Amino acid sequence: MNLKSLIRDVPNFPKEGILFRDMSPLLQNPEALDFVSKNLVKNVDLAKIDYFAGIESRGFILAAHMAATHKKGFLPIRKAGKLPPPTQRVSYALEYGSAEIELPLGKGNVMIVDDVLATGGTLKAAIDVSHAAGYNVEAVAVLVNLTFLNQMKFKNAEVMSLVQY
Ligand code: AMP
Repeated sequence: MNLKSLIRDVPNFPKEGILFRDMSPLLQNPEALDFVSKNLVKNVDLAKIDYFAGIESRGFILAAHMAATHKKGFLPIRKAGKLPPPTQRVSYALEYGSAEIELPLGKGNVMIVDDVLATGGTLKAAIDVSHAAGYNVEAVAVLVNLTFLNQMKFKNAEVMSLVQY
């Protein structure tokens, strides 16, 4: 399936110089969404996964769809201040300034999912907050990896992705 044709390039959004990779057309295509949910777990032992954890906000959509497809639970990794306690919070550096993300405390094996991996700061923070909240991170995956911006590895392997730029 040609997923790239379902990802729209939006120059200079949300700010000057950023080429935004918009997966909205893919979300409007049920066959493509089904393909993504199934292929992002191609190298994952599903028996070891309890929850798909989505990173706010586009990661929620993919992770929730994967949870429904594979009959697992869903967990939200949110921007700080949105989830009721008890939660675990970590801060991480952005290009300018810092951000905080949060996750409900719990246990079990999670697979973390997001739409786009850019510098890797968000995914790394998501892994850190999952560990700090009590979970074991079994796998990570993104729809799009902007490989020229990161050299991120997980468990000594490339981060699973279905589209690379
Ligand atoms: P980073 O922490 O730099 O890896 O940024 C990843 C987060 O920012 C993800 O949650 C993405 O949704 C978003 N993001 C970063 N760059 C882009 C881009 N070029 N297009 C779409 N989303 C992006």
